[in-house]
Amino acid sequence: MAHVIAVTNQKGGVGKTTTAVNVSACLAESGKKTVLIDLDPQGNATSGLGIDKSGLQRSIYDSLIDAMPLGEVLQPTLVKKLTVAPATMDVAGATIELVGMDAREYILKQRIHEWEQTAAESYDYVIIDCPPSLGLLTINALTAADYVMIPVQCEFYALEGLAQLMQTVEMVRADLNRTLQLLGVVLTMYDGRTNLSIQVAEEVKKYFSSRVFKTIIPRNVRLGEAPSHGQPITVYDPRSKGTEVYKKLTKEVKKRVV
Ligand code: ADP
Ligand code: MG
Repeated sequence: MAHVIAVTNQKGGVGKTTTAVNVSACLAESGKKTVLIDLDPQGNATSGLGIDKSGLQRSIYDSLIDAMPLGEVLQPTLVKKLTVAPATMDVAGATIELVGMDAREYILKQRIHEWEQTAAESYDYVIIDCPPSLGLLTINALTAADYVMIPVQCEFYALEGLAQLMQTVEMVRADLNRTLQLLGVVLTMYDGRTNLSIQVAEEVKKYFSSRVFKTIIPRNVRLGEAPSHGQPITVYDPRSKGTEVYKKLTKEVKKRVV
C-alpha cells in the first residue's frame, strides 16, 4: 500500500503547495509511483503541474461527493511517474456538501482505499495538498494519511496557529486515525541574511526538535517562478538551488517513512 502524506498548515502562503508539488515530483523522478491529491479549491497544485483547470471534466470533487472512483479523476503530468487528482473551484462546495454525508471524515480515506484495491498497478506515495483551513477537507486528509508534514514559513507569525494545528492532529489521532504520525516540520522561505528567519528557525527547532527536517527550504526566485510555467522546479530548472533542496528534502522524507 502507498504511504499517504498530508501536507498541512491552516495558514495560507507558507509553502504547502510548493512542497507538495516538488516533493511529489522528486519522488516520481526517483522512480516512485506517486499521486498528488489537490484538496485546495484554489487548485494551485493542479495548475502548478501544468494542468489547465478550465478544460477539466472531472476533479477530486467528483470523487469525494459523487463517489467517482479516484482512478477516474487522475490526470497524467509532465513527470512520468506522477499523476494528479486535480482540484477546481467546485471543491469549495465540497466543504459544505461533506457535512451532510455519512462518515464524513472518512470519505477520502475510503476513496483511496477503494482505488488501491482495484488499481492495476500499485503506487508508492500519495501526497495530499491541503487547503488553508482546518475544516472538513483537511480533516479528511488527516484521517486518510499515515503521516502529516507541516511547512512553516520563516516569518514573524509563523508559530501562531501551530499549537492549534497540533491540537487538531491530536484530535484526529484520538478520534479518527490512531496511527497518524508527524513526519516532520519543514522550514520554508528561509532567508539566512535576516535575524527573523534565524530566530523563527530556532524557535521551531526548540519546539519540534528532531522532527524538524534538516533540509531547510530557502527563499528562491526560481521556486517562486516555476508554478506560473506549470512545472515543478525539477523540470523548470533542474540545476537550481530549489531543485537541489527539494531533492534533499525528499531523501529525508523517504528515510522517515517506514
Ligand atoms: P501555500 O500552499 O501554503 O498557500 P505556496 O506553496 O502556494 O503556499 O507558496 C506561497 C507563495 O510563495 C507562492 O507564490 C509560491 O510560489 C511562493 N513560494 C513558496 N515557496 C517559496 C520559496 N522557497 N521561495 C520563493 N517563493 C516561494
Ligand atoms: Mg496551497
